[in-house]
Amino acid sequence: MESDCLFCKIASGEINTQFLMETDDLVAFKDINPLAPVHVLFVPKRHIRSVNDLTEDDGPVLSKLIFAAKEMARQMGISATGYRLFFNVEKGGGQEVFHLHMHMIGGWE
Ligand SMILES: [Zn+2]
Repeated sequence: MESDCLFCKIASGEINTQFLMETDDLVAFKDINPLAPVHVLFVPKRHIRSVNDLTEDDGPVLSKLIFAAKEMARQMGISATGYRLFFNVEKGGGQEVFHLHMHMIGGWE
């Protein structure tokens, strides 16, 4: 855990957050500045700065993020209408919190 990292604090429970999903490896919660009717962040509990810092060993956690999103889409009823999954990478890519997270947006009419 990085002591000054917002998402480490959220994932560890140090900052109280309503989780939509929590497993041993990740948490999911609503983005505070939603870009769509549904905007959920999927955050690994282990601190990884960005996609640039991923190694081959991180494959399983990436896979878990995607399967968590698939399940969340089903629960939120947006599987059939569709949604978008994406990572912003570093400042130029729009990343605002430097702890890896995957966005899920959807729920448009
Ligand atoms: Zn972190």
